[in-house]
Amino acid sequence: MVLGKIEVAKDTYLVGIGVSPGISIGEINLLNRNTTVDDWPITADEVDAELERFHWALEQSRDELLEIKQKVSSKPHLREHLYILDTHLLILEDEMLVQGTERAIREQISCEGALKRTLQQLRQMFDKIEDEYLRERRSDVDAVGGRIMRILTGENQRSIDDIGPRALVVAHDLSPADTLQMDRDRVLGFITDKGGKTSHTAILARSLEIPAIVGLETITSLVYDRLPAIIDGSSGVVILNPSEETFKEYLKRKQSYRYLQKELHGFKDLPAITTDNVRVALRGNCELVSEFPVARNHGAEGVGLYRTEFLYLGRSEPPSEAEQFAAYREILEEMQPHPVTIRTLDIGGDKVVSQLNVADEANPAMGLRAIRFSLREGKLFKIQLRAILRASVYGNVRIMFPMISGVAELRTCKRILREVQEELDQEGFRYAPVIEVGIMVETPSAVLLAPFLAEEVDFFSVGTNDLIQYCLAVDRGNEYVAYLYEPMHPAILRALEAVCRAANDAGISVGLCGEMAGDPLYALVLLGLGFHELSMNPASIPRVKRILRKVSRRDGERLLTTLLRLKTAKEVSACLDKEMRKCLPGIFDQVLI
Ligand code: PEP
Ligand code: MG
Repeated sequence: MVLGKIEVAKDTYLVGIGVSPGISIGEINLLNRNTTVDDWPITADEVDAELERFHWALEQSRDELLEIKQKVSSKPHLREHLYILDTHLLILEDEMLVQGTERAIREQISCEGALKRTLQQLRQMFDKIEDEYLRERRSDVDAVGGRIMRILTGENQRSIDDIGPRALVVAHDLSPADTLQMDRDRVLGFITDKGGKTSHTAILARSLEIPAIVGLETITSLVYDRLPAIIDGSSGVVILNPSEETFKEYLKRKQSYRYLQKELHGFKDLPAITTDNVRVALRGNCELVSEFPVARNHGAEGVGLYRTEFLYLGRSEPPSEAEQFAAYREILEEMQPHPVTIRTLDIGGDKVVSQLNVADEANPAMGLRAIRFSLREGKLFKIQLRAILRASVYGNVRIMFPMISGVAELRTCKRILREVQEELDQEGFRYAPVIEVGIMVETPSAVLLAPFLAEEVDFFSVGTNDLIQYCLAVDRGNEYVAYLYEPMHPAILRALEAVCRAANDAGISVGLCGEMAGDPLYALVLLGLGFHELSMNPASIPRVKRILRKVSRRDGERLLTTLLRLKTAKEVSACLDKEMRKCLPGIFDQVLI
């Protein structure tokens, strides 16, 4: 196969960042490339005409965005993403973008050159931002800049609407606006030169369940329309021009993936009940309002962790009480009669919300994050609690405080909650008479104080993502010490055991909502530890359920006793792997796909 002078060899393998799982086999539909833009000097006489051309391009871009917004508004499941289009409309009016380009035009640079220069300056500013999430908002500015540039150069953007069937959409950088318009029946997957795991587009791909790979750097320069290709969104592998053999191999993989998904889907309405009749509640972790129906569809018995900080990220103002109330009401109604555990704002650490101005801290993971931030920003905390309480009459809500480190802190939270209830009483607002209140157990001090904390809450939810980081003193995002981040470290097993014992002695519910909960490898040991509830990425629910329905708590307890005798994480992991294979011959390998 030939692209200009470039030949795409059979079975050309490329590896990017898989951000949304699944295998798609189809044809490349190239949406746009990384085009180089010519710029040239202009004369003083031409300045006014170039300024006019620039403003015309801004107007055209605005019209295009408004048209997309209108289309998206008619699709209720995409409604919550409209703010992305609003962000793009705001960027079009941004002073730095508009005045920067105008200034360069006045310095006698062509409109294209002036825009290119301004975008470069903006990009450099974004590159200096340390926070990954905010840095990736640069892609929104790039998307808007790309739109204006395309209009200026007269290049035809292929519309998502013109895309053929079985399309693997390839783009230099797919804007969230493009992603939102994708027709799930025609678009089988997408691949981009740019992007990272937390870019808006990646988040949307996961919530729309479209396999996607980003960060391939130069894919747009290697492909052309109708080129056959395969993408594996789980491993991040793209195969261009697959040979007959590869094609058959991936067809088989896709089929087994599909069979497995289908088989697992069969577990959707079955309870997670062990062979000795122990029932474990499997719930979903959700970040976006649109994920709640997805969680339900995967058989989630409620939501064990709703990360509300996603309502605050990527916008210029914190969400109002009314906006939060509407979101909480919608999700509570969606998940009825199951519980929705709303975790109060957990920002700080690696999740920075620009407009809330978290202080510049030397050690953010141990700084003003999670509940510490809420207790300092009392007004914001109360607004969130008011919204949760007001929504509570529409379903089964549980309130959860993150990163609690001691009894006094918990009591302060509960006092503020009571104050908010009194305020609502005075104002005549209703709220549910009984609401469970719990905490995330994710600090070593909360583990050590678990018996005391258990006396004052209705439930515990262990956040192992942080508990491992704080117990083992290993930054969860630092690749240099990633080898020390071991869920099966003997110290972690003991910490989990202590928390479960404290909760069971006090007669309160204990769950786990860190990433460990969704890994089938740990299902049996978590059962043995005595967890009543596991909350995970919704797609993992059927896999974990399948394991739990085949084993007994006694098996889990026996396994735990064996593991607790071992002294290193390596020994524990090796023993766990061996025991799981022995206990679940055949099944265990399958659910790991
Ligand atoms: C955790 O720490 O395990 C957790 C679930 O919370 P987050 O990943 O949002 O910190
Ligand atoms: Mg946490």
